[in-house]
Amino acid sequence: MSIQTANLGFPRIGRQRELKFALEDFWSGKSDEATLQAKARTLRAAHWQHQREAGISIIPSNDFSLYDHVLDLAVMTGAIPDGYGWTGGPVSIATLFALARGSAGTGSHLCNCNGQSPDGAETKPALEMTKWFDTNYHYLVPELHAGQTFGLTGNKPLEHFREAAALGIHTRPVILGPVTFLTLAKTRDGSASLALLEKLLPVYGQILKELKAAGADWVQMDEPCLVTSLSTIEKEALVQAYRYFAAEVPGLSLMLATYFGGLEDNLETALSLPVAGLHVDLVRAPQTLAPLLANTPEHLRLSLGIIDGRNVWRADLANCLERISAAATWPGGIEIAPSCSLLHVPVDLALETDLDQELASWLAFATQKLGELAALRNALAARASGSSQLDGDTQAAFDTAAAALATRSRSHRVSDPAVQARVQALGTGQHLRGAPFALRQVLQRTRNPLPLFPTTTIGSFPQTADVRKARALHGRGKLADEDYTAFLKRETAAAIRWQDEIGLDVLVHGEFERNDMVQYFGEQLKGFAFTRNAWVQSYGSRCVRPPIIYGDVSRPAPMTVDWWRFAQSQTGKPVKGMLTGPVTILNWSFVRDDLPRETVCRQIALAIRDEVSDLEAAGASMIQIDEAALREGLPLRRRDWDHYLDWAIRCFRICCSEAGDSTQIHTHMCYSEFNGILPAIIAMDADVISIEASRSRMELLDALTSQGYPNEIGPGIYDIHSPGIPGSGEIETLLGLARQRLRDGQLWVNPDCGLKTRKWDEVRPALINMVEAARALRRATNAHTQGGDAA
Ligand code: GLN
Ligand code: ZN
Repeated sequence: MSIQTANLGFPRIGRQRELKFALEDFWSGKSDEATLQAKARTLRAAHWQHQREAGISIIPSNDFSLYDHVLDLAVMTGAIPDGYGWTGGPVSIATLFALARGSAGTGSHLCNCNGQSPDGAETKPALEMTKWFDTNYHYLVPELHAGQTFGLTGNKPLEHFREAAALGIHTRPVILGPVTFLTLAKTRDGSASLALLEKLLPVYGQILKELKAAGADWVQMDEPCLVTSLSTIEKEALVQAYRYFAAEVPGLSLMLATYFGGLEDNLETALSLPVAGLHVDLVRAPQTLAPLLANTPEHLRLSLGIIDGRNVWRADLANCLERISAAATWPGGIEIAPSCSLLHVPVDLALETDLDQELASWLAFATQKLGELAALRNALAARASGSSQLDGDTQAAFDTAAAALATRSRSHRVSDPAVQARVQALGTGQHLRGAPFALRQVLQRTRNPLPLFPTTTIGSFPQTADVRKARALHGRGKLADEDYTAFLKRETAAAIRWQDEIGLDVLVHGEFERNDMVQYFGEQLKGFAFTRNAWVQSYGSRCVRPPIIYGDVSRPAPMTVDWWRFAQSQTGKPVKGMLTGPVTILNWSFVRDDLPRETVCRQIALAIRDEVSDLEAAGASMIQIDEAALREGLPLRRRDWDHYLDWAIRCFRICCSEAGDSTQIHTHMCYSEFNGILPAIIAMDADVISIEASRSRMELLDALTSQGYPNEIGPGIYDIHSPGIPGSGEIETLLGLARQRLRDGQLWVNPDCGLKTRKWDEVRPALINMVEAARALRRATNAHTQGGDAA
């Protein structure tokens, strides 16, 4: 019987985002491949040593990746589509980055435009990118096809295992398991990716054999698909894969890692696999442990994911210890581990010198979590040996945790009775607007008579180098407040003037004053903290610094009213108030763990509702509330979707509930994947919704209209993810497709999303063409005002 500490993965990006900068230097030609690889090696060595010093006995390798671990696996197994410069043998770094970023070399991840680069060379788009389960990490989607063959192009786990061994560190390599890999992949011919399992397994077999020959005794096989609903075929695939490994590589112990949820009805499948160990996520699914202990064969080693790998809070060690104490004498041996890889939390709290002491004492980032693992291990070992005494360090760790927890739960900055009372007072009908949509529509059209097919944009205009520079200077205290404000006013006024000139119907102020659509609001709300260095990898070299919601949320003062008022003073056309919705703010933050997420979301909703009221009082007749990340909060298991959507939509509606009937509420979502959430979108009851639609060529409207969507819609007609400029004819064609699916009186004309990542040189002609297309369409129809159609 043994009790050890294990880690499932350490953040790759580096304490100071060293990997990001090394990558960017390489991409821009400032450094060569050898330099990049040397920097990557230095980072890996530092991470291994760091984990060893923190007392972790089982240290992962191959958790590191230059770009993405799913891409690495596709590359290693030779699952590389044609056109990326690979013709067999070892895969070059050029091919790796072409797959990750497209081969035009411009680095535009968002550019999925197939075509020619300026010098005439053939370009290839990057592989599609999507979210890794329910995290904000994005992986590259492997692209397979029915005739796909696989072959080992290089054994990265082996290389990294040896690299660590050369430093005197024996590691446990991490590999994404074959079934999860295949279920995450897509096939370009629509064939079933799992049908490729048999052809893929020998490559895995070879990787594992080589690892074993090099001295690896354990390998961590990640199969997070085990926390999702699995079909019989998927379950059978798991059995087939792990039987294959047991037969092909006998004597190599596999730790089957599951995370981001509970095994539930997959427990039986998981326990039937011939593996040596099983890791479970006891943070997301604390109820997993009891059935596990009751049903698991005694020889199986259990890895208990008890420290939260998805959030930033210091653990309640005493409580964790109680929760796992039943496993203390488990005969197969115990590993104390984070719930999942620490990839999803920032690296080191010690870098946050600006956070006040008290708040910092409530937090734990990756480095601090390693310490928590060690303390828990020692305490559990003491318990297993029947001792009630803890060694000095362990006792101190428990005492510090208890003290921090006590201050946190008593703190006035966490708990605000006024906010709690407001949430409590929300009755069941408090999310409803006054009049039904049909009546509101009449009132809104009277207040703001608009032409048929009204034109507008989603909110932001280009964040030019000048805008970013001014913000950076202001942030560093090098640009005085009044100079910065004057600069922003000039930008805003110019944007309004230009929109007026080209004839847009509903204007936006341009969002020049905003750094980020969540941060801008979080910084003005009570209950939010911001960090300096708490970066988390979003994809490749891209990192984000999510705000930390630590306390009850309220809005001390209006957040956007002055900018709206200024913008509106520059024009006679309506300017939309522009807000970020509560669900998006929640989903892009680290959220406190001492309240249900839905309660936190209600608090944010009330704060946004206050802002809506103030905008209205200032005269705004149109207010847009963006819910870009609504879909991202969907639970992994479908049966949990309804509950989430129910409270999420309710929160959105709370924001709008005090708006007068003649105030037009807009919302915006920047994805086209509405499958399964359409009823929720309809239930939002926004007067106007704008959505991404240009790439799907309006097809997603079919789903909306088949459900009889009654309100107004602006399906995007300008793909803002690409530098291309749509011509007015092309836009007219898209609008024609939209008109086949919508009534004329429903249709708005707008881009797919905000324009902040684009250049003015692209935006100007694109929007001029957009206005022209709307005008042409009006000429071609008889009715010229919104009310004029036979709706
Ligand atoms: N109003 C925001 C903008 O235009 C919306 C951004 C988004 O949907 N991601 O930038
Ligand atoms: Zn968007």
